[in-house]
Formats: sequence, C-alpha cells, structure tokens
Amino acid sequence: MDTYSLFLLPGDGIGPEVMAETEKVIAALEGDGAARFRLERGLVGGCAYDAHGEAISDGDMAKAQAADAVLLGAVGGPKWDGVPYAKRPEAGLLRLRKEMALYANLRPAICYPALADASSLKREVVDGLDLMIVRELTGGVYFGEPKAITDLPGGGQRAVDTQVYDTHEIERIGRVAFELARKRSGRLCSSEKRNVMLSGVLWHRTITALGARDYADVALEHHLADALGMQLVRHPKRFDVIVTDNLFGDMLSDVAAMLTGSIGMLPSASLGDVDPRTGRRKALYEPVHGSAPDIAGHGLANPRAMIGSLGMAMRYTFDRGDLADRIEAAIAAVLAQGCRTADIAADGPSLPTAAMGDAVVAALRAA
Ligand code: NAD
Repeated sequence: MDTYSLFLLPGDGIGPEVMAETEKVIAALEGDGAARFRLERGLVGGCAYDAHGEAISDGDMAKAQAADAVLLGAVGGPKWDGVPYAKRPEAGLLRLRKEMALYANLRPAICYPALADASSLKREVVDGLDLMIVRELTGGVYFGEPKAITDLPGGGQRAVDTQVYDTHEIERIGRVAFELARKRSGRLCSSEKRNVMLSGVLWHRTITALGARDYADVALEHHLADALGMQLVRHPKRFDVIVTDNLFGDMLSDVAAMLTGSIGMLPSASLGDVDPRTGRRKALYEPVHGSAPDIAGHGLANPRAMIGSLGMAMRYTFDRGDLADRIEAAIAAVLAQGCRTADIAADGPSLPTAAMGDAVVAALRAA
C-alpha cells in the first residue's frame, strides 16, 4: 500500500483544535487499514513568528515542498497585530501559496439536507446543493502591474489596478476545471465579463478553444459574472463546476459559501502544477475560515471544514475518491443524527469540538 505524506500546519487560534480532530480521522483510516500516512508537523502564522521570528521558517517551507500535500488549519489573531507587516501571520500562508505556485483554488459549496434550514435561502433552493468553484489564484487584478496610487497635478489622487491574464494562465486553470468537470457531472460553466473587459474576451476565447480542442466531452456554458451572481442565489443547483478569475472567483465563492450555512463547514484546496518528482500536483488543503480568536480555546470550533479538507486531499492528491466519499458520508451521517457544533445548532443543543470529531470517527468506523 502507498504511504501518503502529509505536512500538518495547524497554525493559530482554532487551527490546532480542528487539526486535532482531523488527526483522529487520519488515525481511524490507518486503524482500519484503509490508508497509510507519514505525518510531519510544523509551524505557520503567529506561532511560527513566536518560535522563529518568521511566519514560516525555511525548514518548514522545505518540508511543505517535499510533502505530497500540506494540510493547514488557520493563521492569525490579535496577539500578532503589532508585528512587522512582512512577518505577520498571513505572510506564512502567502509564502506557501507563492512558492508552491498554487494557482487553482477549489472551493466546494455543499448543502446537506440536515442543514438546509440554516441557509438564508429557501430549503428547496439549496437542499442537496453540491457545486465547485474553481478560482484562478495567482493572477488577475490582485497582482497585475501597474498597481499604484499617484498624486494628480491639479490635486486629488489616482488609483490604478491592472487586470491582466496571459493565455497560459487561463489555459492551466481551464484544464484543472475541465478535468474536475469530467470527474463530476461533465458540465462546466466559465464566467467573466467579456461585455466590458478585454481580459474577459481573452478568457472566453481561450476556454472555448481549450474545450473544443481537448475536452469536447464536457458541456461548456458561459455566464457573465454579474448574471452568474444572480443565478447563484436563484438557481444554484443548476451549476456543477464553475471556473472564473481571481476577482470574480473571490466574490462568487463567498456568495456560494453563504448558501451552505456556516463558514465552519467549508473546506478548500489550492493546487499547482504537477511535480515531476512525485507525479502529483503541488497541493495545500485548508478550511475557508480563519483562526476564530473569539472562540479559540473554548471547544466551540466546528471541525467539519478541516476534516473536509483532508477529504479533498484524499480525492485530489491521492486519487482516493473512495476515502473522500467515506469521510463525506460520515459527516453527512453525523449531521443527519442531529449532532451539531454551536455555529450550526441554531437554538438547539450542541457538541464541543472533540465530541463532534469523535462522532465523525464513529460514523466512519460504522460505515
Ligand atoms: P474567522 O473565519 O476566523 O471567523 C469569522 C466568524 O466565524 C467568527 O465569529 C468565528 O467564531 C466563526 N468561525 C470561523 N470558523 C469557525 C469554525 N470552524 N467553527 C465555528 N465558528 C467558526 O474570520 P475573522 O474573525 O475575520 O478573522 C480572525 C483571524 O483569522 C484574523 O487574524 C484573520 O486575519 C485570520 N484569517 C485567517 C485565514 C486563514 O488562515 N486562511 C482566513 C481568514 C481570516
């Protein structure tokens, strides 16, 4: 049996709490012989700054590059508000994303029947929702140059951000999305604003050509990003995989997130190119949520997003969809049994973080 190497970076705040529950799931998978893991642990964020004076050390960076996949909890907190900008906790996360060249951000939005009433939309609109937003993560207007605020001669200032995409950047994110669509429903929606932006014209043209050339079996449709925002809150279930740029992906994935109830439910994956040494894509898996300093240390964190991030690692790095399905089924079973952490309990009873993790492990063993 293959051994899967994971580099665990629990980070700050609730990160270590939700990572501890994820480690229970890893141990359960090992315990029943489903998989074998080699785990290493490191520091990122404020805890790394406290230990090394950096948000991630060179040694831990090398371990992240060497592992099959990185699992990260969360970084940050008020304790580090005063540290120099280049060493702030988020710098560790940004360094990982940059040096591992993680350009594809996968954000699933799943609405479990047991939680459909927690959504702000009507049950029938979101019940059973299962969609995936693929966001380009390293290009576009967040990084394009020039990017500056300059003084104007007559007074006032001018701010410039530059939306820029090259064909190869669009193609490589397109490939990730087409391949995902192929493994799921065979449908892909691409989104831009070609009606007002030339980067949208190139995006549309490149994705269309890529689809015709290499993915003719995938049904491709296009939506303008503003119209897609409306569709996502009207008929979200008509979409399966959505691919879009950094800016629109940032907004649309947050819209999709809120369809599902709590931020504590949402895992994510960030993928890069295939590493010729391992044959696997560079990969970092993490919850969408932050370090939640307001609840850290109180056993109130929902470990679902972190455990779901392990599930995504099993599916996308190790090609073990069977284990990812088992993890997801265990989470769904636990929710169907009525187990809730405080964030999804409405006014009902709730379980502490560790009990929720134990319930997922019990459901995993029972399956
Ligand atoms: P947050 O996601 O940490 O918390 C937002 C709200 O959601 C809080 O009320 C929190 O209690 C709740 N919440 C978050 N995760 C939860 C979980 N698993 N279970 C139950 N409730 C949960 O965002 P924030 O409060 O804006 O930021 C807090 C810190 O986290 C800041 O330092 C911020 O910079 C950092 N941050 C880190 C990441 C990351 O590591 N990727 C992402 C976002 C924010």
